[in-house]
Amino acid sequence: MLSLFHRAQQYEEKVAIATPDGQFTYAQLLVHSAQVATLLLAGRIDLQEERVAFLVPAGFDYVVTQWGIWRSGGIAVPLCVTHPYPELAYVMAQSGATILVAHPQFAAMARSLAEGHPCRVILTSDWQASDWQADATARSIASLPNLTLDRRALILYTSGTTGKPKGVVSTHGNLEAQVTSLVSAWGWTEDDRILHVLPLHHIHGIVNVLTCALWSGALCYMLPKFDAELVWQHLCSGGITLFMAVPTIYTKLITAWEKCDRAEQERRREGCRAIRLMVSGSAALPVPILEQWQHITGHFLLERYGMTEIGMALSNPLQGDRQAGSVGKPLPQVQVRLVDEQGQAVPPGVPGEIQVQGPGVFLEYWQNPTATAKVFRDRWFCTGDLAVVEDDRYRILGRISVDIIKTGGYKVSALEIEEVLLTHPQVQECAVVGVPDPEWGERVCAALVLRSDTTVNLTHLAMNLEPSLNLETLRSWAKERIAPYKVPTRLIILESLPRNVMGKLTKPAIVQLFGYSRS
Ligand code: AMP
Repeated sequence: MLSLFHRAQQYEEKVAIATPDGQFTYAQLLVHSAQVATLLLAGRIDLQEERVAFLVPAGFDYVVTQWGIWRSGGIAVPLCVTHPYPELAYVMAQSGATILVAHPQFAAMARSLAEGHPCRVILTSDWQASDWQADATARSIASLPNLTLDRRALILYTSGTTGKPKGVVSTHGNLEAQVTSLVSAWGWTEDDRILHVLPLHHIHGIVNVLTCALWSGALCYMLPKFDAELVWQHLCSGGITLFMAVPTIYTKLITAWEKCDRAEQERRREGCRAIRLMVSGSAALPVPILEQWQHITGHFLLERYGMTEIGMALSNPLQGDRQAGSVGKPLPQVQVRLVDEQGQAVPPGVPGEIQVQGPGVFLEYWQNPTATAKVFRDRWFCTGDLAVVEDDRYRILGRISVDIIKTGGYKVSALEIEEVLLTHPQVQECAVVGVPDPEWGERVCAALVLRSDTTVNLTHLAMNLEPSLNLETLRSWAKERIAPYKVPTRLIILESLPRNVMGKLTKPAIVQLFGYSRS
């Protein structure tokens, strides 16, 4: 993101980040990120792609940390602020982070993480306590390394069909390509003001919203967390020109709007007029949601398709005809093709796997050459998603693997959740499936076979557990081990799991047991 910092100099006086706590200009962002880079360097001249993990909530500190890591030559590894210890510890260890930057509210967690994985811990309060608001003198800022576009910049952890989450490594060049593609396609300008409500350990929030805004000299208003009423107040304030979210967020906003009286509904509709573009992505946008949103706000949502590994690939147009249920055409700098099981390109009207090429496509899975080799064929990245071209536009049909679940825009692996549930002393067998749901896209649901009483009772005594397993006890047990959005929200207990003659789990049959059948 080399040009990002040069470009920021053009906008020095403008507000870059606004939060409920205050406003921060591009000049402040440049100075303070240079100070953070200096702190991280601690006398060295270049971090040389050391991994710097950071556990910082949305706000100016987050951005300053991210820029500071980049400017000191490190690789940024954002940690999710709602993840429990085991998930964070996994990322620290897998990425081999040497430094952990944490907001003081996560100081205890940071200390525990550093006990399990020795590293230098820096609290954001450390630099605030120094001369955070004072004018930085040239003396206090080290000379920063010259970066090249081929250097690794970011590792984002994403779930796949097998094993634990993999670290998707993007270079500065990959990120620049992803950002410039979107900035041109969606007509970003320095006059834009975007409301940011998305997680900051995921590509959607980091690239599409935050970095596109800062690349353009625009203003990014960051809310610490999603709150439907607060979001509505901002959306209809007249001060926002852009909004991007996942379908679940639009569903929650519709629900909140429906609870208002007529006058308030009208006020919100009117307020949304100042917005020039509203985007949906990271999961399929149900057509009824798109239609309701259009009815409520007058905005026909622009749906796009992308992935952590490739950035954004397909998009409906900014100008011209958007189509419900379609994700449009390839974005600038992106090549897309659909292939059959033999790897042959399929003609329009025939479904095929989406494969992508372009400068935005990631470099590698961190320290996992086998997994990296598996997802590239003839230099095309294989997405594992199925689509069809109709009327020259792409329509997403779903995923090839049933073991990938998209819930609330998060990609989760059924197998990873199963592995964790199997460590519960009462669980003998389990199958996790995604069951279609109007609010979440899919819900994480678990079918379990419990151990026989004798074993269970003994284990219970030893582990001090409740004798009976139900959704509530399973959820509270799982919340300490996996991210909140991976924790099953529905549970059935079976005598045995449905399997085919080869003994393989038949997951569609399990989805049916939750009362849903794919017709
Ligand atoms: P992530 O890497 O977490 O952004 O997840 C990427 C996955 O989200 C893709 O491989 C798709 O399965 C899904 N996805 C993203 N955008 C869309 C969309 N507009 N419609 C359907 N699925 C989508």
